[in-house]
Amino acid sequence: MSHLIRLRTFAMGCDFEVFAFGEDRGLLRSAAEAALEEIERIEQLLSHYLPESEVSYINAHAFREPVRVHPEVFSLIERAVRLCEQTGGAFDITVMPLVRCWGFYAGAGHVPSPRTLARARQRVGCSQLRLDAQNQMLAFAREGVEIHLGAIGKGYAVDRAIEVLREAGVEAAMVHGGHSSVRAYGTPTDTEGWQVRLPHPLHQERSMAYLLLRDRAISTSAATEQYFERKGRRYGHILDPRTGLPVQNELLSVSVLAADATVADALSTAFFVLGETGIREYVHAHPGVQALLLRRQDEQPEWLG
Ligand code: ADP
Ligand code: MG
Repeated sequence: MSHLIRLRTFAMGCDFEVFAFGEDRGLLRSAAEAALEEIERIEQLLSHYLPESEVSYINAHAFREPVRVHPEVFSLIERAVRLCEQTGGAFDITVMPLVRCWGFYAGAGHVPSPRTLARARQRVGCSQLRLDAQNQMLAFAREGVEIHLGAIGKGYAVDRAIEVLREAGVEAAMVHGGHSSVRAYGTPTDTEGWQVRLPHPLHQERSMAYLLLRDRAISTSAATEQYFERKGRRYGHILDPRTGLPVQNELLSVSVLAADATVADALSTAFFVLGETGIREYVHAHPGVQALLLRRQDEQPEWLG
């Protein structure tokens, strides 16, 4: 007889869930527990909020001297820098000084003065990161540079959990982080894949789309989660690192289908910044990537790629 085990943990500010499907109940349970532990381990490495995390250590020291980085974190930073280059700087793990100056990190959102904004912009850009692959060292070009893996870390944690389940011999599994990053492999009985519901960004109880996910990942970024309003304008928490301004375009939400959740997570943020024209160019050049866009004026989302 087949079983489906479902376990959950709170990490990285959201609920992660693991679904493991197969015949051996004991194996499913121990594998699902190990997958949750893996997610918690990744949080300990990447968290901005934990002062003892690897990322916090880097941020506290890398402007003074090169820091030797945990190999796994080093590889993730390298992948993030490649995604920054591939998206023309739309996805950028050095965006934090901008996030702070618009008040999205702590406290209330506010419009910064031109001077504050200009100063923050000088500390942003992947060229601020000096990576030495041979020695696994990282140095910042100047004081005030920071790395923040918030727009890629959830996807990475999902990928690692999937790897743990696969290595344990679980037949089919799905993992999601806060529903915004999902990855699945194999299928539960009699289906083509794992059913994933994408809620409408404005009405969570309504569905924007359903899909059957198999051996792929999907990640969503939306305009509606965190924002503040000033003088009738809405400022959202995804920033355009190229201009220093919160993204304002016709998109309400962007979901990205890709081979793994790390890439899907980073690209959903990047696509939000790039807007429709940039998304069309990217998916045209990358056949393994598809995007589901919901525009403000539209009832239904549209697939690109
Ligand atoms: P969610 O938090 O809903 O998963 P994202 O994956 O899009 O959403 O990540 C958004 C977070 O990433 C923001 O809260 C901010 O800290 C950071 N961020 C904002 N703009 C960018 C950007 N252009 N590139 C990388 N990270 C960003
Ligand atoms: Mg993201």
